Amino acid sequence: MPYIDTHCHLDFEPFASELEELIRRCHGEKVTGFILPGVTCERWDHLLDLGLQFKEMAVAPGLHPCFVEHHQDSHLKELHSLLEHHRKDITAVGEVGLDFYIKSPDRQRQMVFFEAQVVMADKFVLPLLLHVRKAHDEVLQTIRRLKFTRGGIVHCYSGSLQQAERYLELGFKLGIGGVITYGNAHRLQKIVRSLPLSAFVLETDAPDIPPAGSLSPINTPENLPEICRALSRYRDEPSEEVVNRLYSNTLELFPQLARTER
Ligand SMILES: [Zn+2]
Repeated sequence: MPYIDTHCHLDFEPFASELEELIRRCHGEKVTGFILPGVTCERWDHLLDLGLQFKEMAVAPGLHPCFVEHHQDSHLKELHSLLEHHRKDITAVGEVGLDFYIKSPDRQRQMVFFEAQVVMADKFVLPLLLHVRKAHDEVLQTIRRLKFTRGGIVHCYSGSLQQAERYLELGFKLGIGGVITYGNAHRLQKIVRSLPLSAFVLETDAPDIPPAGSLSPINTPENLPEICRALSRYRDEPSEEVVNRLYSNTLELFPQLARTER
């Protein structure tokens, strides 16, 4: 079974000059699908171009909470129009959410952008790619209050076991990335042991968060099998079974990614 990287920023600079070559190397590691989340409005066109150019890539435009000072109200209108005109080329809305970990966060304004994008995802029948730090209760309450039922992924999951269970009830899966390979990620290791395998999908967040012991500071989706091996190790389950299950978990949310299988 192949792997799908449910969160990687292949539109970012370190990959620009070598995308074809990177995809080729990823195929060598059986990583055959990639979901590219958006960050700011200026990059959406490029994101959509990549989605059209590479059959392996699916895209999720959105306004990232860490860049709230950069976002303009008009960007929400632009996102709406993008979803209206390019719905068939778009897989999810992301990455969106709340980040109460960053310094100088305008929490009120983060919430305005988050709510507006949840409503849009619902209107256009799309799942969400969530970015959440130190704000899981607030995100869970918002999803519930807005009656959002299309699910999605909580990327780079950092919440508690109880919060994880509430996300699962709301149709979300938890994105497991390089952090699982860190010796001190005890809470996350406990979470991956405690929940059913149906709760998880894999991600690298490339170019960030390289797995422990990585030689390069630039993370790439080629590291996905290593993340999966760490997950199997903590669950004490055969890696083959874990790979298969995580692949079908991803297709459950994004059936259109099956087309990348050759
Ligand atoms: Zn990201």
